[in-house]
Amino acid sequence: MPLDPGIAKLAELIDRSGRAVVFTGAGISTESGIPDFRSPGGIWTRMSPIDFADFLASEEARREAWRRRFALGETLCAAAPNRGHRAVAELVRRGKAAAVITQNIDGLHQASGIAAERIVELHGNTTYAACLDCAARYEIDRLREAFERDGTAPRCAGCGGFVKTATISFGQAMPVEAMRRAEIETLAADLFIVAGSSLVVYPAAGFPELAKRNGATLVIVNREPTGLDTVADLVLNRAIGETLGTAVGVD
Ligand SMILES: [Zn+2]
Repeated sequence: MPLDPGIAKLAELIDRSGRAVVFTGAGISTESGIPDFRSPGGIWTRMSPIDFADFLASEEARREAWRRRFALGETLCAAAPNRGHRAVAELVRRGKAAAVITQNIDGLHQASGIAAERIVELHGNTTYAACLDCAARYEIDRLREAFERDGTAPRCAGCGGFVKTATISFGQAMPVEAMRRAEIETLAADLFIVAGSSLVVYPAAGFPELAKRNGATLVIVNREPTGLDTVADLVLNRAIGETLGTAVGVD
């Protein structure tokens, strides 16, 4: 069967690229059963996210944040990388993609076999937790056991600071090092592939704009139209896994 022309074009752009960057959002992970928090009908339209200032100010807000995280636990544990993640991993393995910049917090790029140093997490990672004061790392399962025992939000054993999932909450500063790495990788790329992001969350969504302004070819693969479709060189409004999988030749 002949390749779909859009996918053939993507394959050709990948072939010609010397250094690509893949930028991923919720759309790549919904195909693994991870809920999209921001979409219509998503979790945050049913319950508003807990603001970082509230987390710091209120034990009840911290308990609620942890209750929600533990409730999400089984969904996250059951999720495995899908064809889209595998295609991205293959691009990294071939040396085509130098980096993956992601808005996702689910750790599925790591689970697909990409080395952590190739992944830039703009919104952090919810598969583990850290002390907000001393950055000591905590594992979710241990925190859950303690929470179920005494019902209080976890505190750092070392310094007494609040322990929070290693994610960036609303109202929390963007991670300086991740933003710096994302900018360096964006400026070094000749091909910038957006996969599964509607590009509405800034400053993250600024990276494809920056890549385009810097002369890179911009490709957007997303089920819904995005705000940057008019400036992109190629837009594919289709499923992520099938599109990337076919373009890269990965099942
Ligand atoms: Zn601490």
